[in-house]
Amino acid sequence: MPNSEFLEEWPLYRKYPMELPRELRELTKPPIHMECSICSSPQTFNMRDEYYSGPRGNWMQRPHGLVICVEYLCEACREFSRFFLLRFDPNGAFVEKVGQFPSWDISIEPSLQKMLSQHVGTYKKGLICESQGYGIGAFAYYRRIVEEIIGSLLELIPELMSGSEKEQYLVALEKVRQTTVTEEKIKLVKDLLPPVLRPDGLNPLSTLHAVLSEGLHGKPDEECVSLAAQVREVLVFLVNQVTASKEAKKNFTESMRKLLERKKK
Ligand SMILES: [Zn+2]
Repeated sequence: MPNSEFLEEWPLYRKYPMELPRELRELTKPPIHMECSICSSPQTFNMRDEYYSGPRGNWMQRPHGLVICVEYLCEACREFSRFFLLRFDPNGAFVEKVGQFPSWDISIEPSLQKMLSQHVGTYKKGLICESQGYGIGAFAYYRRIVEEIIGSLLELIPELMSGSEKEQYLVALEKVRQTTVTEEKIKLVKDLLPPVLRPDGLNPLSTLHAVLSEGLHGKPDEECVSLAAQVREVLVFLVNQVTASKEAKKNFTESMRKLLERKKK
């Protein structure tokens, strides 16, 4: 197995690139953290048994071309299990999920739900498409949300800035208001993002700009799934980070104000 993120978050049919080992028993069995229906809370799950394919299979088989069902048991209640059906590339270059029970979770965190407000329905449709490997559909739904909220999202960013950085951004923002083309809006401000919106120096707006400008161009669904996932990840990051930073700044300013007021007294 590659890693826990693949099992926890990757949708069906999205190919996880990895060099397959020579034997099934060399695959790792990472623990995962997911919701347990019996405990009604997120719990750690561990893989039961070994990697086998069918009754006559054994763990010394080559994984290449096999489809294998693995069971993950909740460590807390030891009653609830999650199942993943894994398909290993015949050429040894990837693994993908081709089934999972319970199915991919499309519930949305309350904070994200609030920010997406009227777009929640579209977002859920995107998640459903993505979970089934319908990358073209997922991409279209996520792109629609970006188009509809990018303007207001970019308007919130100056609140996280100060000084000349902010002035420069505001000049660009003026131009953003004059265009209706999403890619153009992003291009105008992508190099002016404050550090808080650039995790490890990575620029989410540059990623978004690249993915949206490149478009789908007749690519197959499976390739589009990974493009759609990138759009979703950037979207969620920006929405969460802008809201969280704004909130943190507000709390900081309020506590500073209280502190100063107390000093005055
Ligand atoms: Zn449990």
